[in-house]
Amino acid sequence: MNRFLDYLWPVMDAPVPIVAAHVVAAWPAGVHQRLLDLGFLMQAADTDRVRCPECQQHFEEVIARTGPDGAVRFYVLCPEVLRAEVPALARRQWGVNMTAITDALAAALRLTGNLTTLLPNRAWRLGRTIWQNEPRDVVLARGLNWKDASSVRAIITRGRKPIVLVPDTKPPNDLWRGRVPPILALSQAATIGEGGIDLDPLELAATILDADKRTNAPDTDGINLDRLKLLIRQQVKAEEKIGITDDILVAAYRQEGTVREAAAFLARTTGQEISKDSVHRALQRAGGTATAVLNDESSPSVVRSRPSARGRKKKPTNPI
Ligand SMILES: [Zn+2]
Repeated sequence: MNRFLDYLWPVMDAPVPIVAAHVVAAWPAGVHQRLLDLGFLMQAADTDRVRCPECQQHFEEVIARTGPDGAVRFYVLCPEVLRAEVPALARRQWGVNMTAITDALAAALRLTGNLTTLLPNRAWRLGRTIWQNEPRDVVLARGLNWKDASSVRAIITRGRKPIVLVPDTKPPNDLWRGRVPPILALSQAATIGEGGIDLDPLELAATILDADKRTNAPDTDGINLDRLKLLIRQQVKAEEKIGITDDILVAAYRQEGTVREAAAFLARTTGQEISKDSVHRALQRAGGTATAVLNDESSPSVVRSRPSARGRKKKPTNPI
């Protein structure tokens, strides 16, 4: 697998997405030229500050001197050699061509709609895709872990269930308020193929599925118990008798880990007698064995079990 792009993403993640000659010189042979050929890097204005070409130990402002022949030469002051000449190549630097990269990403994902800049040099809407029959915006953003990231976040979250691409470093989850979108680091998923950028479809799918699952899943365990009790109270109150639905019976089972304890829990919460049989029947209606019900995490409407309940189900004896 080619790794040319591994050298691009960290540059793209830097506040000033420009790479200096001494950095490029340390890259493996061919990488720099390949990134230039692809159009992802392009030559920028020469820098006025370079690493000393003689001792390599310090960075200095470049001083221009016109020689007796009228030609301009460049130097830096150096404690080792006093004055070190700076060759023209050492002042070169290359910037990331965001236009080329956003175009390539939109093409790689076969996105529809317009590619637009949401915030100059920071965020782009690459286009729209259909994920599991649902339209989703795909956004590329830089600097989601910089101090001013909240302004970029605000723009991204206006999109339609956005899928976010970042060059390399993912932002912390607490950047987002509420839903944490799927975030794919290009450094983990992008390679160069024959037609341009290739994105690993498995990596992309896993990223979206993981994020959507987190969003749809019930909140932390502590909240689950309260929510379950609230649901029970609502049901009992609504029917003025014990009318516990299968959802609640199954949720209580997941919460407590055994039929016996689920029945006891429901009895405590409702103040009424709930038989083990009613829990058992609900489990059977919900799809068979207790293990199957416990392992089914696809239903967002049913509360997930606590870690203690999960631990209990591992006992060799069948709880039912
Ligand atoms: Zn020096």
